[in-house]
Amino acid sequence: MLTVSRLTKRFGGFTALNEVSFEVKEGEILGLIGPNGSGKTTCFNCVSGVLAPTAGTIRFLGDDIAGLTPDRICHRGLTRTFQIPRPFRKLSIADNVAVAAHYGATERTSEAEARRRALQVLDLVGLPTDSAALPTQLGAGGLKKLELARALATGPKLLLADESLGGLDPGEMASAADMLRRVRGELGITIVWVEHIMATLMRVVDRVVVLDHGEKIAEGRPRDVAEDPRVIEAYLGEKIVLE
Ligand code: ADP
Ligand code: MG
Repeated sequence: MLTVSRLTKRFGGFTALNEVSFEVKEGEILGLIGPNGSGKTTCFNCVSGVLAPTAGTIRFLGDDIAGLTPDRICHRGLTRTFQIPRPFRKLSIADNVAVAAHYGATERTSEAEARRRALQVLDLVGLPTDSAALPTQLGAGGLKKLELARALATGPKLLLADESLGGLDPGEMASAADMLRRVRGELGITIVWVEHIMATLMRVVDRVVVLDHGEKIAEGRPRDVAEDPRVIEAYLGEKIVLE
């Protein structure tokens, strides 16, 4: 579904991503992990069009999308969430999602259709649908759900989810992980998931790609990757415990 080949991103003299290649297969949940600053968000920024790659190709459903703007990439069915949610604070929760449905969908929807879609998505993530509910009333967990709802409302085929569990308590984390499983299972959306809470991520993903200092250092099934000496080394000797 997505083929990233030799993706390189430099900021001045600093190389944030160095010839990173990986594939995403339709229907899978792929984990993208690595220590802080290893280039995970930069990778999402390049794939989703927020940043233009310095070099490399990004093929989505057969077309090279490297360098296209985020709105065009979104209209092709590839969308992402942001690590730091920034909703429209003065719009209701429902309107925030309706805006995403209206402008982000592959086919331009009417306002009524966008609202109907917003309510469906809010229901799925478990957020209030009434027009008086504002994003400013949400805690960290609620804001992450809203961020996911806005992305889902665009009707993606591929979702890039960036560190969606940061700031959540263990109960919220488990339900967020469960939600991504449902997004794949019920909506049939393929997912690349960046998350630094490893134990949670490793239990959900089918496959994992590991970045360190902008380079891919490992790729494979969670169990094998957790045993990989280079991965253990990158995480400063911390062994990832899988139950
Ligand atoms: P991660 O998401 O894995 O924690 P990032 O992709 O955010 O890492 O960052 C990778 C590296 O690139 C970091 O050293 C970061 O400081 C740097 N970086 C990211 N974005 C920019 C930017 N817009 N300008 C300069 N440096 C950046
Ligand atoms: Mg990041």
